Amino acid sequence: SAITSKEIIDQTSRYGAHNYHPLPIVVSEADGVWVKDPEGKKYMDMLSAYSAVNQGHRHPKIIQALKDQADRVTLTSRAFHNDQLGPWYEKVSKLTNKEMVLPMNTGAEAVETAFKAARRWGYDKKGITADQAEIIACEGNFHGRTMTAVSLSSDAEYQRGFGPMLPGIKLIPYGDIEALKAAITPNTAAFLVEPIQGEAGIVIPPEGFLKQASEICKENNVLFVADEIQAGLARSGKMFACDWEDVEPDVYILGKALGGGVMPISCVAANKDILGVFEPGSHGSTFGGNPLACAVSIAALDVLIEEKLADRSQELGNYFQDKLKEIKNPVIKEVRGKGLFIGVELTEPARPYCEKLKEEGLLCKETHDMVIRFAPPLVISKEELDWAIEKIHNVLS
Ligand code: PLP
Repeated sequence: SAITSKEIIDQTSRYGAHNYHPLPIVVSEADGVWVKDPEGKKYMDMLSAYSAVNQGHRHPKIIQALKDQADRVTLTSRAFHNDQLGPWYEKVSKLTNKEMVLPMNTGAEAVETAFKAARRWGYDKKGITADQAEIIACEGNFHGRTMTAVSLSSDAEYQRGFGPMLPGIKLIPYGDIEALKAAITPNTAAFLVEPIQGEAGIVIPPEGFLKQASEICKENNVLFVADEIQAGLARSGKMFACDWEDVEPDVYILGKALGGGVMPISCVAANKDILGVFEPGSHGSTFGGNPLACAVSIAALDVLIEEKLADRSQELGNYFQDKLKEIKNPVIKEVRGKGLFIGVELTEPARPYCEKLKEEGLLCKETHDMVIRFAPPLVISKEELDWAIEKIHNVLS
């Protein structure tokens, strides 16, 4: 007989490291906004793998690109050229309006890459004294789990037992422009910021912050580095969350939906004066820029653009947020978000509510204890959103 959800969860728990606390649901099939467990029960996915599945599960165009490329060549390493990397570079360069692109695999690696680029730019271009470069980041940030990324964190649990942390990092309160001004010194190479903080609970900075911060960076010859890994690529209702304030960052960090939920691929995009600091031998990755991921990513970006998923996210996000705000319950402290990137902050832990929503057939995940994140694939229909609202009413009204 077929293996059951319980058996799979037991096996996972027995043999796997316990660095996650998943909801007790096993996904064995997926299509669009829907997933199915081994027993055949259907659920709506309202997490989208932390925004990596903005295009919906197994989008036919992306799966076709995967299959076509799998039949040709999947990996060359960067010791040789491959015929998908060039076209992908051009696509990402045009999308970001940046001259150069550097491919990696995961978000954290792309953050790592931007961090190295900023430091080297600081020494080679800005003239900072060797080993004195400073990077400013924001409290509450999430940039991943590598040593650089956790060194940037203000969350003690992300750092506990992993020291010593990387030096040369300063934190300011998110959204505090005066604190940014005060933190900048002649040794500051970059200001690294999420235009919307995802893991912190869909936290939106005060209006004008990104614009002012980018101007202050320009005045002080400091790179403005936007981590758009979760908020970017149509999630917030614009192609990039920085677009909300017409900000062109010096450096974009992209990941997640760049691979359409099919292949891990991430990148840093910036102009030549910045990414030009890397010469052969200074940085790299065996799988970075592999033809399979590049072919998939080209299709993933085509889907975002052709299906106007940013506009769709904005329109449906406004509708969904209005509906969520109609729910009257003192346990709801705030409904906030941009596009289909929505946090519902509660006055008590969100986990039990996520578990109840799961029983209703709706999958979402608490973030930072008190916040339920609603971030469905952007291909969701209005009818499907109405279905979700009904379920949310059942649990939250
Ligand atoms: N940066 C941001 C803003 C993220 O949301 C994440 C993942 O949640 C990362 C970086 C890390 O990406 P990855 O998990 O692919 O390393």
